[in-house]
Amino acid sequence: MNDRSSLSPSTQFVHHKRVNLPKGNLPLVSPIYQSVKFTPANMSQLRAIMGGRDIGYLYSRISNPTVRELETLLAELQGREDAIAAASGIAALTAVAMTFLTTGDRVVVFTESYKPTRFLLSGILSRFGVETIRLSRDDYDKFEAICQGAKPPKVVFLESPTNPTLRIHDLPRIIKTAKAAHCLTVLDNTFAGFLEHQAFDIDLFVHSLTKQASGHSDAMGGIIIGKRTLIDKLFPVAMTLGGCLDPNSAWLILRGMKTYGLRTAESSRLAIEIATWLTTQTWAKNIRYPALKTHPDHELWKKQNRSGGSVITFDLTCADKDVDKFFDNLRLFSVTPSLGCVESLAVPCLMLYADDLPPEEALAAGISLQTVRLAIGIEGLDDLKADLLQAAAKTTGQ
Ligand code: PLP
Repeated sequence: MNDRSSLSPSTQFVHHKRVNLPKGNLPLVSPIYQSVKFTPANMSQLRAIMGGRDIGYLYSRISNPTVRELETLLAELQGREDAIAAASGIAALTAVAMTFLTTGDRVVVFTESYKPTRFLLSGILSRFGVETIRLSRDDYDKFEAICQGAKPPKVVFLESPTNPTLRIHDLPRIIKTAKAAHCLTVLDNTFAGFLEHQAFDIDLFVHSLTKQASGHSDAMGGIIIGKRTLIDKLFPVAMTLGGCLDPNSAWLILRGMKTYGLRTAESSRLAIEIATWLTTQTWAKNIRYPALKTHPDHELWKKQNRSGGSVITFDLTCADKDVDKFFDNLRLFSVTPSLGCVESLAVPCLMLYADDLPPEEALAAGISLQTVRLAIGIEGLDDLKADLLQAAAKTTGQ
């Protein structure tokens, strides 16, 4: 609209003059495409977009350039062809379950998994006739028997390291069994991160971007990464479920990703120091951190992983009645769920991650009232140790 002189103020309010950058004059930081709608150049382009012959944009629930930039980056890091972003990690997991499972199907999930993932399958998908089989991390023989039986599962959901007890799965063994049974493998790679597990023949990776990717506790998101044929199957379902990532959050996560390497390296450097130090403390026992030689899956971890990650789980040696004192006395560690942010966090595991399990199953999975999960941020090592020490002294009197 070149001649604006005849426009009324009401029209000027709505249709302001656009500032277009000269050709080749680019912003160093990509803009946030905070627009729900995109107009095609003409009807012919609209037809091409609708027909999938033009990658142009129309409506942000379907696709948005800022979100697309994030999807492309994360697919590249995880070493796969394509990705679909979602509003949260659990929205990503929901899209996978709704795409690849239907009435009469079986799905396998491990007890050692994020509680809402277990609920998604056994509490929600079960209402639509999907049968969930829950196995423990040590039940590989059962998994093999089910896969070789008359009705193999259509999908297996797993995490490695697992939340919250940091067990490591034998990925080659699971993948081999699942592939032979045409069972889709879905690895929630949130704890391990984008730079781990590329070499394994996992069908779909899911990440909560709310954690290390965003890194600053101010944005939620999720992503599903895999080969293009699988992402193409997911696309219409994810788009229709409506759990899309908004461009503002995508931009914050893109900004977080610029320091991903630095932050994850620093928090795992601090985590190994703290985990090793915890093994010398009388108020802490059963220190679980995969890079420690005493971890039950340490050998597997060495074969499959590069980093130990930022999460440590351990048990306080105090009586049941004193557990709350530990959390109430922490000053630097914040008592709140999540991980992978610059702040260090601490949570009681039983209440947050295992209160849906029968007590004996929680115990078998290594979770008691005394089990604490630490998510290490990027503060000073001595300050973090001092905080744990003073809270432990007030809890156990040691
Ligand atoms: N997967 C794992 C392993 C998690 O720890 C979480 C959240 O803590 C999620 C998925 C869900 O992510 P979100 O909170 O972004 O939905």
